[in-house]
Amino acid sequence: MKTVLQIKLLPDAAQYAALKDTMRVFNEACNCIAEVAFREQCASKFVLQKQMYDPVRKQFGLSAQLTIRAIAKVVDAYKRDKSKQCFFKPAGAVVYDQRILSFKGLEAVSILTVQGRLTVAMQMGDYQRLHMGRGHGQADLVLVDGVFYVLVVIETPTAPSIDPNGFIGVDLGIVQIASDSDGESFSGEAVENTRRRYHELRKALQANGSRSARRHLQRIRRNESRFRRNQNHVISRKLVEKAKDTGRGIKLEQLKYIRERTTVRKSDRAKHSGWSFFQLQSFIEYKAKREGVAVQYVNPRNTSRQCAACGHTEKANRKTQSRFQCVACGRVANADQNAAINIAARAHVNKPIVACNDDNGLSEHSRKPRRLRQGN
Ligand SMILES: [Zn+2]
Repeated sequence: MKTVLQIKLLPDAAQYAALKDTMRVFNEACNCIAEVAFREQCASKFVLQKQMYDPVRKQFGLSAQLTIRAIAKVVDAYKRDKSKQCFFKPAGAVVYDQRILSFKGLEAVSILTVQGRLTVAMQMGDYQRLHMGRGHGQADLVLVDGVFYVLVVIETPTAPSIDPNGFIGVDLGIVQIASDSDGESFSGEAVENTRRRYHELRKALQANGSRSARRHLQRIRRNESRFRRNQNHVISRKLVEKAKDTGRGIKLEQLKYIRERTTVRKSDRAKHSGWSFFQLQSFIEYKAKREGVAVQYVNPRNTSRQCAACGHTEKANRKTQSRFQCVACGRVANADQNAAINIAARAHVNKPIVACNDDNGLSEHSRKPRRLRQGN
């Protein structure tokens, strides 16, 4: 399976300036090429290369290989949406291949810039070290909050899949982030409290509107999403470990319905929850795949209204957010656990909606790399 490694670069001041210049020039060249591509309605690398290669090299002083990558980036973007001309921000990603970016052991990367080839120090975690050397040909140079990263797609080994002996059903929610059919649940309380605290701070800072307030806000946002991601990593790891240890698979609700089910859809909270659900599912999926644990998706219709004991389905069965009481057989249960048992018992639907990677959109340069990271 494919995963994305995020490698932080540690350039000195001169190297930093060179990288930034390279990024700016590269994207200016992309905009120039995009104009022609759109005007002539041309999505052919070959045709654009023939027409643009020399003028772009001359005008922007780009190397041969970076010029070719710029053309390729434009073609990719234009193919995605031919209805409008693509624009590239000055700090958009620069696409590299092994001829212009290579790793020097585990400590440095050799990278082509407008100042020529530079050897830039890099910082990697253990996870990255473990996986270096499995990289494919391409790497993206990105700039996030003033820090340069190289993103590399690697092939991660997966365990042979285990034929599951039963399934753990997992219900995702807002109050309880995840509840499983064994009765174990992971509270969202800590997350929710942090979110609320951040939300208050954000409101106060937004009213302020100064430059330093904006910076502060950015930091808060980063902390919040890092907190959520860590939480999702912990929960997904525990669920996958349990499934593996007991020889079972994992069943989840198909995701698009979870979004519909959250009642306060338009609010900030729902937006966050929607994203967080998606992230948690993705983490469960890729960790499970790595361990050979089967993941299946079920239709979530009425999972929270159906009685897991007698099957009776009625809205009135769910007394409160947390309490389930069947009006037919009188069974009393925790509402999330009842839903999780239903999920475990349901037949799986064919096509999972969620992608197996946290994000596989390396070519979508607008995405921020921290969303791509998959540690732990
Ligand atoms: Zn019942």
